[in-house]
Amino acid sequence: MQYYNQDTYIFLDGEFVKANEAGTDFFGQALHYGYGAFEGLRAYSTHNGVRLFKAEAHFDRLRTSCEAINLPFPWSTRELIEQTYELLAKNNMRAAYIRPLVFSGSNMHLTSAANSSIVIAAWEWGPFLGQNLLKVCLSDIRRPHPKSFQIDAKISGQYINAIRATSDAIRKGFDEALMLDQDGFVAQASSENLFIEKDYKLYTPPMENVFPGITRQTVMDICKGLNFEVVEKRLTVEDVYTADSAFLCGTAAGIIGIKQIDETTYPEDWEHTIGSSIQRTYKKLVLEQENYEVII
Ligand code: PMP
Repeated sequence: MQYYNQDTYIFLDGEFVKANEAGTDFFGQALHYGYGAFEGLRAYSTHNGVRLFKAEAHFDRLRTSCEAINLPFPWSTRELIEQTYELLAKNNMRAAYIRPLVFSGSNMHLTSAANSSIVIAAWEWGPFLGQNLLKVCLSDIRRPHPKSFQIDAKISGQYINAIRATSDAIRKGFDEALMLDQDGFVAQASSENLFIEKDYKLYTPPMENVFPGITRQTVMDICKGLNFEVVEKRLTVEDVYTADSAFLCGTAAGIIGIKQIDETTYPEDWEHTIGSSIQRTYKKLVLEQENYEVII
């Protein structure tokens, strides 16, 4: 996949520069130790124009991710949102995936960064996991232990495990991996949150053991608006295998149903699940075809 060409701009430390002319510091801690934090948000082409979905929540989370690892964050959410809209305009993009990344500079010591840089890139990207129902497998690779890693922060280095888990899953013929938490409960997919449906109720693992997905929260809000019950509880492998249906959610993937987990196929026809209603509502919400205030 080509993320940029000779005409693509990125935003780098206050300036718009050509992606193919920008450089990085090869003595930086981000490159060597994964000492950086990032976000992923989307812009949609709506009848109200180009609109970033939940931009404040994403840039606020970027700030808290940086604070969690003592990475300086001297920017305001407001200015970053403005610069993101400008970046989209400069690149003539209406619908795009946007990747802000804060990274530390030259320092080979294992000490906190004294200063940091920010880059914001955007590219046109369809749903991350495609549009078809997914085959997922349980991974042997667990989520990081919450006592040794800030699991509610989006820290660059953490994604090595996600890369390993997803690559293993794809090698075995699946689309995505589900990872267990430190105690052996099913936590989430490598970069999406999990919901299962059983007897007309939804269940999702509680926040303490999963990444606090903004789409996860949107799903909960949609459920409130549509009167679907959601229970936050730790899920056993058995719970996940014996569910009626299940889906993953995240900014990059959107809301996407799961057809099969390991060798078990879910019995419920996806079109008749709660997940499918939520998927339809979510699509309308991000495109501002639904009254946002009523739902959220
Ligand atoms: N889990 C992880 C580990 C993630 O990195 C992400 C974001 N890609 C998600 C879940 C979904 O979060 P969001 O809905 O905020 O995109």
